[in-house]
Amino acid sequence: MSYQCPRCGDRVTRIFPRRVPGFGLLGPMVYFLFVSCECARCGLIPRREFAPEDRRKMALTTLAMMTLAAAGVSLAVFLIAYLTRLR
Ligand SMILES: [Zn+2]
Repeated sequence: MSYQCPRCGDRVTRIFPRRVPGFGLLGPMVYFLFVSCECARCGLIPRREFAPEDRRKMALTTLAMMTLAAAGVSLAVFLIAYLTRLR
């Protein structure tokens, strides 16, 4: 999962901030929203500088991750409710 730098054409990497407050189950979602892109030469690149195509991909990836996280949470809640009922 890599994107092209809008300034120099080099590859940028997604970096994760070291300090993201823990929000319990929402942690992964919050974590993902705070992610930013960094070019080895130009440093941090704001999302608005990327090509529309790349921004679309980023948005889709974020959406997919959030859906997955939400599905995971729902499944966990369902399983807990189910297991509690068995007793
Ligand atoms: Zn660059």
